[in-house]
Amino acid sequence: MKRPYEIQCEHLRMIVFSDGVFPVSKNFFLVGAGNDQEVEQFPDDFEVALNFVCLQIGDKHILIDAGFGETGGQESGHLLTELNQSGIKPHMIDYVVLSHSHIDHIGGIVKNDKPAFPNATHIMSKKEWLYAEQTPDSKSFQVLNKVLPLLEVIEVDTEILPGVLLKHTPGHTPGHLTVEVRTNNGVYLITNDVYNIPHSISNTDLRVILEEDSIQGVRTRNQLIQLAHKEQIFIHSCHFPYPGLGTIEKVNSLYQWKSVEIQ
Ligand SMILES: [Zn+2]
Repeated sequence: MKRPYEIQCEHLRMIVFSDGVFPVSKNFFLVGAGNDQEVEQFPDDFEVALNFVCLQIGDKHILIDAGFGETGGQESGHLLTELNQSGIKPHMIDYVVLSHSHIDHIGGIVKNDKPAFPNATHIMSKKEWLYAEQTPDSKSFQVLNKVLPLLEVIEVDTEILPGVLLKHTPGHTPGHLTVEVRTNNGVYLITNDVYNIPHSISNTDLRVILEEDSIQGVRTRNQLIQLAHKEQIFIHSCHFPYPGLGTIEKVNSLYQWKSVEIQ
């Protein structure tokens, strides 16, 4: 097995696990780009990554999104196996942060009709819960209902453990959350679905068709890019190629993605 990418500093360990891949069409995953050469070169159908972060702080484990679980195809749903292989058993997870209610992020919180992480507080934003409630027949809402006793909603930006702040980053969905992790090695923003492909750092109009509010989406994308560039913050984006971690560079007034190097 390929060792998962990880960062370790004093009291914190950040590991990136793969849930597999998500087959998407260009019409679904890459809209709003305008006349963008780079986007035009994409094939009609392709696969994007599903990379999710698990944080270990002292004896606490925080999982940020849970992948497709049993709701996707054969290409996905591998997160639990990956966690297990790294010695992180489902009962050891203390918090599952749900960035938003799309099924590629929350499907994995249920296994065999029961909560997959039985000891974890599952946190999502109140705005996202209200949004999910609008489609009671959706797979997403059914999944959320199966973890209801474990679910906690937050109404404002909230620090769940020292140095781990959940921030509202709306646009993709109304209650989308980004996780800010402060370490003595630097700051990391786990941005989940704020960005869809690395090129969306350069063209922030680029979005998935499901984006709920594209004007707000662009605003959020620009804000985080400017912040990350100015303060040398690392960004993690779950659908970027593994491990999905990098920084923002400015080349001739254009912001660009710079992935970390992996051996
Ligand atoms: Zn997604």
